[in-house]
Amino acid sequence: MPIPIQKTFTYSVTEDEASFLQKGMRVAVSFGKTKMYTGLVYNIHQTAPTLYEAKEIHQILDETPLVNELQLKHWQWISSYYMCSLGDVYRASLPSAFLLESETIISKNDAFTEDSILADDEFLIFEALQHQSQLTIHQVADILGKKKVMPIVNQLIKKSAITIKEEIYEQYKPKLVKYVRLHSDYNSDDSLEKLMEELSRAKKQREAVLVFFQLSSTKKPIKAKDLEAKAVVSSTILKSLVDKGIFEFYYIQIDRIQYKGDTNDLKVLNEFQEKALLEIKETFKEKDVTLLHGITSSGKTEVYTKLIQEVLDQGKQVLFLLPEIALTTQIITRLRFYFGEQISVFHSKYSMNERVEVWNNVLENKTKARIILGARSSIFLPFSNLGLIVVDEEHETSYKQFEPSPRYNARDAAIVLAKIHQAKILLGSATPSIETSFNAQQNKYGFVEINRRHGNVQLPKIELIDVKEKQRKKEMTGHFSDRLLKLIQEALDQKEQIILFQNRRGFSPVVECKTCGVSPQCPNCDVSLTFHKFKYELRCHYCNYQRAMPNSCGACGSNTLDNKGFGTEQIELELKELFPDFKIGRMDLDTTRGKHGYQKIIGAFEAREIDVLVGTQMLSKGLDFDNVSLVGVLNADSMLNFPDFRAHERAYQMMVQVSGRAGRSKKQGNVAIQTYNPFHQILQQVSATNYAEMYKEQLQERWQYKYPPYYRLIKITLKHKDYNKVDNGVNWLFKALHNSFGEYVLGPTAPAVSRIRNQYIKNIVIKIPPKQNLANTKSHLLKIKNTFEAVKDFRPIRFIIDVDAY
Ligand code: ADP
Ligand code: ZN
Ligand code: ZN
Repeated sequence: MPIPIQKTFTYSVTEDEASFLQKGMRVAVSFGKTKMYTGLVYNIHQTAPTLYEAKEIHQILDETPLVNELQLKHWQWISSYYMCSLGDVYRASLPSAFLLESETIISKNDAFTEDSILADDEFLIFEALQHQSQLTIHQVADILGKKKVMPIVNQLIKKSAITIKEEIYEQYKPKLVKYVRLHSDYNSDDSLEKLMEELSRAKKQREAVLVFFQLSSTKKPIKAKDLEAKAVVSSTILKSLVDKGIFEFYYIQIDRIQYKGDTNDLKVLNEFQEKALLEIKETFKEKDVTLLHGITSSGKTEVYTKLIQEVLDQGKQVLFLLPEIALTTQIITRLRFYFGEQISVFHSKYSMNERVEVWNNVLENKTKARIILGARSSIFLPFSNLGLIVVDEEHETSYKQFEPSPRYNARDAAIVLAKIHQAKILLGSATPSIETSFNAQQNKYGFVEINRRHGNVQLPKIELIDVKEKQRKKEMTGHFSDRLLKLIQEALDQKEQIILFQNRRGFSPVVECKTCGVSPQCPNCDVSLTFHKFKYELRCHYCNYQRAMPNSCGACGSNTLDNKGFGTEQIELELKELFPDFKIGRMDLDTTRGKHGYQKIIGAFEAREIDVLVGTQMLSKGLDFDNVSLVGVLNADSMLNFPDFRAHERAYQMMVQVSGRAGRSKKQGNVAIQTYNPFHQILQQVSATNYAEMYKEQLQERWQYKYPPYYRLIKITLKHKDYNKVDNGVNWLFKALHNSFGEYVLGPTAPAVSRIRNQYIKNIVIKIPPKQNLANTKSHLLKIKNTFEAVKDFRPIRFIIDVDAY
């Protein structure tokens, strides 16, 4: 059952049903008094349950299994390793359209018109939806006067007549690229002569037109971006030519051009990539897992493509995991260029129909789903014949799911998945996680390096700017040092682009009264509100609470509310004042919320419609822009002073990754990092891109303070809206755990934000020493949890277990 209960349930079937049913088929069953669920057949047996009477199933929903045995094996591992119910894994794995239940809400699909294809029962429901916008499965049962309605609803979904309510309808829309052509008025030679005359005084415009003619000799469509670069003119020049009716802009979907001859040849590898490829294949002879540590812009993607091609040639499936799909439209485009229609993209934000389609295509091993490109949830697809898994940017923390259960790490679960399929798995990163490097060092994984950027471009020059010193010398303008401003100006003069990294969104994180020192707090969470200037409001970044910015202090009434700290919004505003002639863009959670928020901003930056892009860590993830020559980090210190044992590792990864966006194609780029603490060891390591040093030092600390990769962590979180309840619960739990695990139980502690959405939070961490048996520890912990939940007073407390917590 798709519910958080550990055990499976037995239902009764007839002999005929039993001979038809197979493991992995869905059945509609009732559960409890009135609930109806989509159950999954896990086993077919002849042992009647002793504690309850087996109910009959309502209906068999599939003709053939929807879930295969390899998946069930994988789910079993996830459930036991991450200490969650098999039902949780089942629910997380299947697109929700496969999981109808009595509370599911359906509505009409307005685009659907062919009601002639509907059977009688289906039509009745469809018609009911004309009068009532939504129906639950229960209501459907009432309308039809029968219980077995899931198959009918399934048919309606299959025929696209209805949709399920909770879905977000977001279709992947490939990026549009801007092209230029001559207006048809200028097709004759006379008109051209006249045109050049007209432009004789507009030098830049004339130049643009001349270069346009040069480029058109190839007869290929001309990208606006290419024309600007070749003619060395800005987008405003092209725009004015369009305004004059000389040029026209038009847009082509990148995909459509690239699909012309469905696939393209792979790039020829450079010597370092070639060597890496051979080494990877060599390690794969002995090892199932290999780490590819290739510096930023070394061309890891090109190496992946060669391995992918070989696996495709063997007729096997490939899974390519990405940390966040929204940020990686670039990779999708690149891989589609080579592999065309063999690629399917899978992501939990995709429309229901699209996800169902991908699921079915993978299940049937169709050619168009030979390569799955997806975020973490794509490890749940019904692969039958995986040959290779690539985990790109394997260090990314977004591979770890923390809410809801199953709280799995997709990288680690993918390693197990590969083993189940006897497939190989390649972990790639320019800044591998300490855990993965450790496994490679211990010879558990193969290890391959690329230390050169493609085209032999050097890694960017990284300089540290001492903000304290700059303040003392009065060389700061707002949040910018004179040095950073100079570098920005130089890059802009060269018509190069700039990325500025500020790891906080909003205008200023803290608003404080100068008179009494009180900060406005979120009413639902224990955290200060963040000021967002554009909407002139205060917002909570934990629960999204928002209110207008008050004029006076709520505590003392004085008129002295002041901003402290700064975020992306403030940086953007300062830049607009400092560089009024240039286009400033911002990429953070607030500007990328809309349907295609990311694609729009990334597309505009690629098309050079934005000169300076200000953003949060979203900017550090695998983006490839060819004209960025400067990356600035406004305030490195906020990353370093984070109370978490991984903070230093992450600060290193984030800064090296964001630096890696500079100088990718032509000349060496520049990186400027502003800090109050230029001698911090991590900043020194970043400035030399000295991964080995960072790794060595962090590893020592992990050993000394008993953290991963040496010790494993299980984090337990208790939540309840009554503080005393959680407090009593956590104290009892701590004692119980301490009796069993002694000094390796830490806590109880309240997290930095100790109340979120009115729920009080307490944590306990269990450290598991290298030699301690993991399975025994977990089963002991489960026993303690059962005892805890048997106490009436504690039962309402939410009890969350997070294995390998981040
Ligand atoms: P990484 O993922 O290691 O940061 P990418 O795979 O994004 O690096 O490569 C960086 C850039 O160099 C990309 O624009 C890519 O197309 C280009 N590139 C890499 N290898 C080659 C190659 N062998 N031939 C041509 N271009 C390449
Ligand atoms: Zn809040
Ligand atoms: Zn006050």
